Amino acid sequence: MRVARHAAEAAAAIRADRRRGLKDVAGRALFRSGQHTRAFEDRAIVTCFHAIDDEHESPIACTSAEFDAWLEFFGAHFDVIPLTALLSRLEAGRDISGALSITFDDGYRDNYTLAVPALERRGMHATFFVASSFIGSRHQAWWDSDCGITSEWMSWDEVRDLYARGFDVGVHTRTHADLGAVDFADAIAEIDGATDDIDRELGVRPTLFAYPFGGVDNITDAVRSYVAQSGLRCCPSAFGGLVRPTTDRFDLPRIPITRWYLTPYQMGFEAARLRGRDPTPHKARSRPDQP
Ligand SMILES: [Zn+2]
Repeated sequence: MRVARHAAEAAAAIRADRRRGLKDVAGRALFRSGQHTRAFEDRAIVTCFHAIDDEHESPIACTSAEFDAWLEFFGAHFDVIPLTALLSRLEAGRDISGALSITFDDGYRDNYTLAVPALERRGMHATFFVASSFIGSRHQAWWDSDCGITSEWMSWDEVRDLYARGFDVGVHTRTHADLGAVDFADAIAEIDGATDDIDRELGVRPTLFAYPFGGVDNITDAVRSYVAQSGLRCCPSAFGGLVRPTTDRFDLPRIPITRWYLTPYQMGFEAARLRGRDPTPHKARSRPDQP
């Protein structure tokens, strides 16, 4: 029985790999023909990265070479703009066609050592959402422990430096709390406390927010409303596909960049196909595997 089950699982994995490979081929055809501009008319993408790691097989990391391939793809086919610029376009009702914003969650040290130099080489902007109590700490994240990885976070000096170099720093709570599970008062303390931490360390009040885990169940309507009223400009998830002109900034979908994608073209193909579906973010499937 066990052998049969393993054989079935292996066959399913091969079929899934083949489907992803076909999507890569279809994506290359879509983008090289220029047809993708129709798929992304009045649509934008907000990507969500976590870590860049050349040593470990983390499900939430890509290698330096893979990150460079992502940036090359973004630069070749999209209008890469800061998240703040995308929010301004949404607020003003201006065209968002083909816009793409790059974000990182959590505050990993490799964001500073590897992502920032790669972004600067291409003149691209990104927003870094940091869990403020992780910064400058030796906190070990359980999702890293599960992969046998020792968590390494940026120092406040490094966060200050990337901000000084033109990148944005956003709020991602203090302790990476699940805002769908904690009491309302604790959720507020996590958001306000982290906003104060960044304000104190950087000398500027942060205006961008992303909630931890990013799934449909990881935030409540009450907390989302609080974010909207508290002076923060957005509340992105880590699911939900494409941004539309009518998208609520406080229910903003992001596409997590994970090892699911064999290549950027696979992601581009899958994203283009989301156009017709336009799922309401609230109704989309939760992805609790994404910190
Ligand atoms: Zn996170």
